[in-house]
Amino acid sequence: MPRTLPGRFGAVPGRCALEQVVEHQDIEALPEDLGERIDAWEGDEDDLDEDAVLYRSDLSTAPGWKAGGFARWHGTGPAAVTCSCSREMDPVLTVASQEWDHGSRSWIPLEDRLTADAMDANIPTQVTVGRWGSRHVFACPADASHAPRLSFQG
Ligand SMILES: [Zn+2]
Repeated sequence: MPRTLPGRFGAVPGRCALEQVVEHQDIEALPEDLGERIDAWEGDEDDLDEDAVLYRSDLSTAPGWKAGGFARWHGTGPAAVTCSCSREMDPVLTVASQEWDHGSRSWIPLEDRLTADAMDANIPTQVTVGRWGSRHVFACPADASHAPRLSFQG
């Protein structure tokens, strides 16, 4: 059950477990022809049933807190994050306001499925970033001493 621990400057995140998942690049960051093939594979949105598996919501970037993986660019669209040494930086941490939402329920951990509809079940950390957005931290792949960069997706 989520809990919030009192801290000197407010609350600190509740304790959570990490699990490994497989995710794929945000569709907006894929080559255009591949994105079009995925769109064709998904079919017409109006013809889908509610259990349909969609690349964007079920197979692409996992919502919620994560270490590594791919950035979700739902707020701004894809953007290159470049280090001062000119290398493209890697997402190393995502702090998210929700672990899942109505459109990303396939990412609910198996152990949380029975309680997934309980109030605030999708915010076990009790952390909200901006107005229910997420914060990505990027790091240089060549030199960890290079300054990290941040991205906010609202
Ligand atoms: Zn660098």
